[in-house]
Order: sequence, then C-alpha cells, then structure tokens
Amino acid sequence: MANKMRAMRLQATGQPLVLEWIPRPEPGPGEVQLRVLACGVCRTDLHVVDGELDEPSLPLVPGHEIVGIVMSVGEGVRSLHVGSHVGVPWLGWTCGHCDHCVAGRENLCTSARFTGYTLDGGYAEFCVADARYCFPLTGIQTPGDAQAAAPLLCAGLIGYRTWRLAGGDAPGRLGIYGFGAAAHILAQLAVAKGQSVYAFTRQGDTTAQAFARRLGAVWAGGSDETPPEPLDAALLFAPVGELIPIALSHVRPGGAVVSGGIHMSDIPRFPYRLLWQERSVSSVANLTRQDGDEFLPLAARLPIHTETRAYPLEQANQALADLREGRLTGAAVLMP
Ligand SMILES: [Zn+2]
Ligand SMILES: [Zn+2]
Repeated sequence: MANKMRAMRLQATGQPLVLEWIPRPEPGPGEVQLRVLACGVCRTDLHVVDGELDEPSLPLVPGHEIVGIVMSVGEGVRSLHVGSHVGVPWLGWTCGHCDHCVAGRENLCTSARFTGYTLDGGYAEFCVADARYCFPLTGIQTPGDAQAAAPLLCAGLIGYRTWRLAGGDAPGRLGIYGFGAAAHILAQLAVAKGQSVYAFTRQGDTTAQAFARRLGAVWAGGSDETPPEPLDAALLFAPVGELIPIALSHVRPGGAVVSGGIHMSDIPRFPYRLLWQERSVSSVANLTRQDGDEFLPLAARLPIHTETRAYPLEQANQALADLREGRLTGAAVLMP
C-alpha cells in the first residue's frame, strides 16, 4: 500500500462519497505533493456533491480548505520546500493571460481550475497542488493548529473578499446573514475593526445566536427579524435567495448587500423601492491570491480563533450531513 492512499471520492453527484484506496498523486512540473493534515468542509462541497454546480471532474476528491505539509516538489518549484506548511484554497490555477487575469481579477479567469471541483482536493491523505497557488502558513505545530487553520482557507478567504466588497471596515453597522463558518470568522475581524455586528441566523436557532453574541455581535436574531438600527451593509452567507430583498429592506440608502455564496436559491421578485437610493446587490466569485496574501497574515495577527469540529476522513459524509442540517457551530474539519 506504499504508493496508495485513502480518499473519499465522489463517483456520481447526489450519491454519498465512497472510501477508496487510490494511487497517491505525484507532483508534475510546478506542483507540490502534500500530506493533508486537515481539510475543512465547505458549503460549496455540499453544492458539488448535491449536483448544484455543473462541472465537477468525476470521479472527484472534494475539499478546498487544505492544510498540508510539503512531501515532495515537482520540477521547477523554487518557492516551497519539503517540510513547509501550506494552505491550498479553492482557486487552483488560472491562465494568466485572459482579460480578467490581466486586469488583476484572476478570480474571474475564464479557464480557472478549482480545487476539489475541477481538480482533486483534500478529502484524502495526499494531494498535489500548483505551488504558485499555495499559501505559506506559519505557526502549524500540532494537528490542532492545522485543524484550526483549515477554515481560514475558504470560509475565511471568501468571507474576507465579501467583507471587502461590502466596504471593508467602512460600514459601522454590519449585518451578517447565515452564521456559520464564514460568519464566525468575519465577525471577529469586524469586531476587531470596531464595527458593530448584527447576526441573523435561521429562525429559532438560539445556539447560533448565542455563539454570535459570544463573538461580539451587538445583536443576534432570526433572519425574519428587524434589526434595532438600519444596517450600513449586509453580508450573505446563507444560500437562500429570499434573504436578498429582506437584507435590502434593512440596509440604509447607499448601502451594499453582498452575497458570498457560489450557489443560491432563486431570488423572489421585490419592489424597486428596496433597491432605490443607491443601494446595491452584488456577489463574490472565488478569490485572488492577493486576498490570501492580505487576509492570512491579518488572521494570524489579530488572531482569529476558529471553532471547529474534527471528523476522521471516513466520516466525510457525516460531516456533510451535519453541515446540511445546520448541526454545526463553526466549521467541520476532516483529519485524514
Ligand atoms: Zn485567466
Ligand atoms: Zn469553500
């Protein structure tokens, strides 16, 4: 079994992942081979497994919140060395020459490849990644450190980009809809920046509301509730289209509503007056390497503490089910 590894693979969408022994991937030119120390479970993984995103490369090893240690390097890799700790995010490769890449918006690259979607990811003991898209990580000494860092690689990064597009630290009163992995990281960043956080959870989810208050939210309630003050901006991390007009109705003139999700149920019709007065609705797609270069050192410096629940690799389906059913406080992380 020396050159084989355990992996949880998706053979067909809508089916549970299957535990398999498959060959360890070997690094090609420009790539590194990593032993996976931890891999976070993201809501996007649910969308991939459920078939809500249309181009997974099957059979697929999902997972794009990878913390790993470099085991070997492919030809031409100078930036990383055997023994380095790195994080592998969703953005796995971009072309470098399309209009978006040239304009510094590689997140929109028309031929981008994505970890755990069009490239094999981290629900396995080993993976390979393009060295140019790995983020060096410091302070990883124990399995617990790897577990804590994993959610920063997507929930943190996409959350950070969502926060930045909603005005960064400019909004004084920041609403966050959907208080899961991304929100619990972002709330800490916002509070550290002096912003007032208003947390909206599933109706009646008093556990998530208490969690939000513990992280410094000034108010927490159900997504059907009206906040005590109008919001300057709102971030959406729940894949629920009904929340767009609701969030707009609570945002002041000129305020932004930004969705961080890759997939959302349809947005219902709503009256123009909710958008009028220069309110805006926008979405975040993917991430750029610059987002990681900015956010990961910031997360280490603040520092941001992640709340995680560890699962053995074999229990990936259970972790996905717990995420789907809203049974998690914070983030699920697989520990191969
Ligand atoms: Zn491109
Ligand atoms: Zn993700």
